[in-house]
Amino acid sequence: MRVGVVGYGTIGKRVADAVLRTSDMQLTGVAKTSPDYEAAIAMRRGIPLYAVPGREEAFRSSGIEVRGTISDLVSKSDVVIDATPDGVGEENKGKYYVGRRAVFQGGEEAYVAEVSFNALANYDEAKGKSYVRVVSCNTTALSRLISALASSGHSIRKVRAFLVRRGADPREHKKGPINDVVPNPVTIPSHHGPDVRTVIPVDIVTVAVAVPVTVMHLHMVNVEFEDRPSRDSIIEALASTPRISILYSKMGFNSLAQVIEYARDLGRERGDFMENAVFGDSISIQGNEVYLMQGVHQESIVVPENIDAVRAMMGTPKWESIMATDKALGLYS
Ligand code: NAD
Repeated sequence: MRVGVVGYGTIGKRVADAVLRTSDMQLTGVAKTSPDYEAAIAMRRGIPLYAVPGREEAFRSSGIEVRGTISDLVSKSDVVIDATPDGVGEENKGKYYVGRRAVFQGGEEAYVAEVSFNALANYDEAKGKSYVRVVSCNTTALSRLISALASSGHSIRKVRAFLVRRGADPREHKKGPINDVVPNPVTIPSHHGPDVRTVIPVDIVTVAVAVPVTVMHLHMVNVEFEDRPSRDSIIEALASTPRISILYSKMGFNSLAQVIEYARDLGRERGDFMENAVFGDSISIQGNEVYLMQGVHQESIVVPENIDAVRAMMGTPKWESIMATDKALGLYS
């Protein structure tokens, strides 16, 4: 499968690296707007670069060779993964992806694609589709968690989730807050619950705030079941689901910073942690309800789903894809 990546920022560069690690995919190239340090590194690594139309000369005058524009990259690719800023993917769809296959990110509106996608939740709905949207980092984490809990043998009645969102990604030097807790959005429910419902038909309400950190998001989740689950059955359901890690305080996991340190110590590229980081000690049962907290590494959690979205569109069976992706990315629960 020949895969091109349009938009080479936080998500795009990680997805491009994941394609490079994936034996059944070939990276046809990446498209960028600016001839910056990321472009220079891509060139040094031999990744074919393409420019946004009109920007070719800016690249060449910076000594960065480009092989054409986005249209050239699209014509060489079976599937394009668009990882441009919110709303640009929709514009790109009309300009470049008509009659082609494209994967969009969670910053696009759901209507941009034929299906909103999470590998565990609804892989098969993307089979044979031309336009698929990988849902956002928060929605991906909630969709994985709900899918795992639904496999516990107990029926979910409703989900209530409180999201503590990182204020910015580490490199976003102009974003905040730097001394505040911001209802984000101030309205309830936040958009995350409705977004989960684009993937899983579940009763869910979400509330979110943004705080002055860059490491990860934290979710405080309450799931009510039709009957009382045992703690063991919940832990078993989570432990047996790919892309969910249960981290216990006896192993030193008491904070999000430690999860990132763990990823760095594991030698994960860029210190990325692509799994849901469920704090094992937080899992508790109150009547029919389960409470737990999970960390979400916003910069990387959607990377495996992008690879699976491509395979789903091309017809690969679900578990074949999930297992191949996790092996290629070195993921384990
Ligand atoms: P980013 O700003 O880090 O990167 C976007 C890249 O696209 C930049 O390299 C930019 O130069 C390039 N670009 C801008 N306009 C372009 C155009 N017309 N054609 C080609 N390239 C263009 O953004 P990001 O954080 O990687 O987000 C990308 C998408 O992923 C968004 O939909 C976002 O909502 C979603 N997402 C982001 C995160 C996150 O935490 N960063 C998590 C999950 C999903």
